[in-house]
Amino acid sequence: MSESKHIIIVGAGPGGLCAGMLLSNRGFKVSIYDKNPEVGGRNRAIHLDGFCFDTGPTFLLMKGVLDEMFELCGRRSEDYLEFIPLNPMYDLVYDDQTLSVFSDREHMRAELERVFAEGADGYERFMDNERSRFNRLYPCITRDYSSLLAFFSLDLLRALPWLAFPKSIFKNLGQYFDQEKMRLAFCFQSKYLGMSPWDCPALFTMLPYLEHDYGIFHVRGGLNRISAAMANVIQEAGGEIHLNVEIQSLVIDQGFVKGVKLQSGEEVLGDEVIVNADFAHAMTHLVAPGILRKYERSQLDKREYSCSTFMMYLGLNQVYDLPHHTIVFAKDYRTNIGNIFSKKLLSEDFSFYVQNATVSDASLAPAGKSALYVLVPMPNNDSGIDWQAHCQNVRGQVLDTLGARLGLSDIREHIECEKIITPQTWETEENVYKGATFSLSHKFSQMLYWRPHNRFEELENCYLVGGGTHPGSGLPTIYESARISSRLICKKHKVVFNDIKHSNWLKKAKA
Ligand SMILES: Cc1cc2nc3c(=O)[nH]c(=O)nc-3n(C[C@H](O)[C@H](O)[C@H](O)COP(=O)(O)OP(=O)(O)OC[C@H]3O[C@@H](n4cnc5c(N)ncnc54)[C@H](O)[C@@H]3O)c2cc1C
Repeated sequence: MSESKHIIIVGAGPGGLCAGMLLSNRGFKVSIYDKNPEVGGRNRAIHLDGFCFDTGPTFLLMKGVLDEMFELCGRRSEDYLEFIPLNPMYDLVYDDQTLSVFSDREHMRAELERVFAEGADGYERFMDNERSRFNRLYPCITRDYSSLLAFFSLDLLRALPWLAFPKSIFKNLGQYFDQEKMRLAFCFQSKYLGMSPWDCPALFTMLPYLEHDYGIFHVRGGLNRISAAMANVIQEAGGEIHLNVEIQSLVIDQGFVKGVKLQSGEEVLGDEVIVNADFAHAMTHLVAPGILRKYERSQLDKREYSCSTFMMYLGLNQVYDLPHHTIVFAKDYRTNIGNIFSKKLLSEDFSFYVQNATVSDASLAPAGKSALYVLVPMPNNDSGIDWQAHCQNVRGQVLDTLGARLGLSDIREHIECEKIITPQTWETEENVYKGATFSLSHKFSQMLYWRPHNRFEELENCYLVGGGTHPGSGLPTIYESARISSRLICKKHKVVFNDIKHSNWLKKAKA
């Protein structure tokens, strides 16, 4: 055990904060640097004239994983955060009907029977079978794949049939549901990974399953409070968080990362460096050309990336009668998906997501007002779209569509303040490579052993956390990346990690 080992973390996003929390509570000296004035990265708060928005994540899935991270630090998440379960979880708006989605079987059954001619029998099979799949796959997904040996573990070999490779999530759902609209209700979640349901691997059927079996949560004050709480835990354990400090480069000597160089020119040296900044951004901006091989720019450009998003954060002087979460499908869903992922074009008929969190959390806006968050999936910046030229047009289309599809036809009159993030802004201001907000695509050939390793394979003393490494994008998996990297660092320095074996919150499968 070495109490004095110094861990430097580049980025105070969810991955960096969670690793910082785990390691500072195990006796390491932790120093986190972030270029932003607030912690949280894409999970930080946006404050506008008394309104508060989450920048990115608004759905907390697998709360049990977050609880475990606090437990691993000798704390209870409930002492830092107020969780609000949402049931119904969200509304799905099709061209001709609306489905309310519940996290309890009784209500969900009744709602599926009300809306879809084929009824709810497939849903029952989906729940039972997908629980078995999840229980098999989750322990495999949360392992370290820094070596090929780990890939050939017994539990992964046993779980292989459950990967349903090479099926897509859309195809996998064919065993439960006939109607395309019904399948969409259980596969639009591939967008959480910035992927098309026709390309997203079947193993991610775990996303809709998790929502339906474990529910989704809001956190009072927004999901950004999770990052703020993690920052508190780090500081309680003596860790340091330096905000408004941009890292210019990693300090590398003969393949060993020795520390970081700040924009000021100062070098800070440490025993290990954890990179939480977006993976492809970091490798192309923080490492000089000629050092990396597998992940140098031309190789990174051959990789596949997620889609991007056009974001509108609207401070409104009234509260609309809309659920907490609403997902609206493009009338022609397949064409919209093709435009985003293959053709990389703007669509006039687009899918979008609206969060009206003020209806369950009045703390987000001044009395009688509301904070509306709108997310429209867009092509990433491989599209070449000039967002400065298109931004106002797209804004107008989004406002028109909020009127046409959700009845908010007078919304323009109620906007008090607003902020927009385009795919271009994600890249230039948020340091997200190609503006691909959900990082490297989660296609099978970029997963597990084939995703950048938690113990980074190209540099010594360097670890990765966040959406760009294994297991992938999404808060729970990002927390798992922090756990994997922290475990590896503890092992290297002979510090006991004292893990918890997922037993507390996993529901038992029948088979
Ligand atoms: C619009 C959107 C919606 C999402 N919705 C959900 C959701 O509902 N549920 C869910 O689970 N997940 C969601 N996600 C996915 C994911 O949970 C978030 O993107 C998450 O914030 C990613 O965390 P991260 O740790 O990978 O890094 P980030 O949040 O990107 O943090 C990286 C940090 O590194 C910092 N940094 C970068 N470069 C430097 C540098 N040179 N020097 C210093 N600091 C630097 C950045 O400022 C940033 O703070 C969403 C993502 C987006 C974008």
